[in-house]
Amino acid sequence: KPSIVHCLKLLMLLALGGVTMHVPDEDDVVASLGALRLDGHFSFDDAHAAARDFGNRCSLLPAAVLHPGSVSDVAATVRRVFQLGRSSPLTVAARGHGHSLLGQSQAAGGIVVKMESLAAAAAAARAVRVHGGASPHVDAPGGELWINVLHETLKHGLAPRSWTDYLHLTVGGTLSNAGVSGQAFRHGPQVSNVNQLEIVTGRGEVVTCSHEVNSDLFYAALGGLGQFGIITRARIALEPAPKMVRWIRVLYSDFETFTEDQEKLIASEKTFDYIEGFVIINRTGILNNWRTSFKPQDPVQASQFQSDGRVLYCLELTMNFNHDEADIMEQEVGALLSRLRYISSTLFYTDVTYLEFLDRVHTSELKLRAQGLWEVPHPWLNLLIPRSTVHKFAKEVFGKILKDSNNGPILLYPVNRTKWDNRTSVVIPDEEIFYLVGFLSSAPSSSGHGSVEHAMNLNNKIVDFCEKNGVGMKQYLAPYTTQKQWKAHFGARWETFERRKHTYDPLAILAPGQRIFPKAS
Ligand code: FAD
Repeated sequence: KPSIVHCLKLLMLLALGGVTMHVPDEDDVVASLGALRLDGHFSFDDAHAAARDFGNRCSLLPAAVLHPGSVSDVAATVRRVFQLGRSSPLTVAARGHGHSLLGQSQAAGGIVVKMESLAAAAAAARAVRVHGGASPHVDAPGGELWINVLHETLKHGLAPRSWTDYLHLTVGGTLSNAGVSGQAFRHGPQVSNVNQLEIVTGRGEVVTCSHEVNSDLFYAALGGLGQFGIITRARIALEPAPKMVRWIRVLYSDFETFTEDQEKLIASEKTFDYIEGFVIINRTGILNNWRTSFKPQDPVQASQFQSDGRVLYCLELTMNFNHDEADIMEQEVGALLSRLRYISSTLFYTDVTYLEFLDRVHTSELKLRAQGLWEVPHPWLNLLIPRSTVHKFAKEVFGKILKDSNNGPILLYPVNRTKWDNRTSVVIPDEEIFYLVGFLSSAPSSSGHGSVEHAMNLNNKIVDFCEKNGVGMKQYLAPYTTQKQWKAHFGARWETFERRKHTYDPLAILAPGQRIFPKAS
């Protein structure tokens, strides 16, 4: 379409400082790919939708969107682009639910593969398959939302073991990053809970891989930022699903006591099923609390609690139970809480179904959508901070940089390195315990404290502090834009990452929005 081509050419011109290059348009794409026999189809009129993401700060128009009707559609398209070789500028980006932060699932002038179309085609064939027995697992399409996987497995009394806080993300999307939540201390991130993958490589080959078979590709793709192949199916480990969850929040005013208790809990054999935490910096309001669908049983006491302007730390815990085990759960929770040192008047809890707990962020999404506050820019910053420097980090960041202003929830919880398989592509700090610290800012206004500029300024100060003070931080969902930055991010692991890229996607066709490898020309 002319509008697409114009925008794209303008973008390329800007990027190259006035040097023109050939930008594929609809005719080029039709000429290159139109002869493919597909179960699905290409479309050209939804390019704008494919150029948006949750971050809402980057918009790169693709030349076409593939709505695959089968895995072979994905393979045929990638194979054709591979055959076109170096002379074609076409790239291919798998798009999960488009919840990236800075264009990672976009492809300027390339082809966006709408993975949810593949999931829909698979759903028609009932392709989410649950297997019980001694090692229960589910086979799920790469474009399936985790919430749908959960609904299907619950029918069998089973559920995946490791989650993200929000389930309206796709299987292939979170497995390409890591997939971290409050269960990771026990089960590891989602990438540590996968038994097998089906992948379309950058050569257009369909490969099944696992710990035993084609293991190099298997580990490459897990946390691989979409660089080595498109995950079309994943086999995910399951466990018996509880019916209910006791969901608890307690408050601390002292960071050391808060983190000591968190670490004590993740080190114990007998402990809670989910352990997270967040930082409350003298703020209220829906943007700060948008993750909260938590309604404590004693709302009066909760609402009367005064923070007096202090920074507070909230430890968030759950214990799973079935109705006939409520007494045992009460005893276990009581015993565990008695070992903690929170402010004694600040124990808040509620009992909800397992589904309600896992889908908690969606409840807040609906509230924000109703107020037009979901589709605002999200200049998020997610850091992995080693235990040895987290106190220094907290003192500077919560005590100084964010003292007066922040625009969203701040997550902070520890995980164990031993639960992260170091053969995957995921990059983590080099220490036994490290903290996930997520600054989940929204930027609803174009200027002032609610603006992208303000949030980015704070983010830059935080990153700058880490870099200048030897914090040993690694970014999660890193928004790097140059290969130099990526090399520094991967450190000693860069060589392996690059070798795997040459092996599985030698022309650098896949996931161009990560900006790691330029398309070979
Ligand atoms: P997309 O954003 O569409 O894609 C992400 C990247 O993976 C892109 O590079 C894309 O090309 C590639 N990709 C997508 N599908 C495939 C595939 N099938 N095969 C290969 N590559 C693929 N993350 C956590 O770990 N823990 C959390 O608790 C958490 N909470 C979140 C809450 C919200 C509200 C949001 C918006 C995000 C959250 N995330 C969390 C981040 C989430 O993991 C990323 O957004 C991730 O990108 C998944 O989103 P997606 O499925 O929409 O993938």
